Amino acid sequence: MLARSLFPNLYLGAVIECPAAIILEGVAMAKVLRCRNLGLDCPKEVRAETEEELMKLAAEHAEKDHGLPAAMIPPSILAMVKAAIKDE
Ligand SMILES: [Zn+2]
Repeated sequence: MLARSLFPNLYLGAVIECPAAIILEGVAMAKVLRCRNLGLDCPKEVRAETEEELMKLAAEHAEKDHGLPAAMIPPSILAMVKAAIKDE
């Protein structure tokens, strides 16, 4: 009885929490950003399912490996970074 009442809630929660991931899984597309494409001498490739997630990972990499906190990156550079994102 307890399991039957808990399980539907868990299932419903998962569906509501991440509808975009379910849709993206269907088309199997990934967003890729390569540091090299930004003119940096760095072999790093950042991959994610959405641009939002990719920009988050790219910001972490920029801060950790390039000593460049996201807050220090001007909008013109951010636009360049977004333009360099490829779908794969
Ligand atoms: Zn890099």
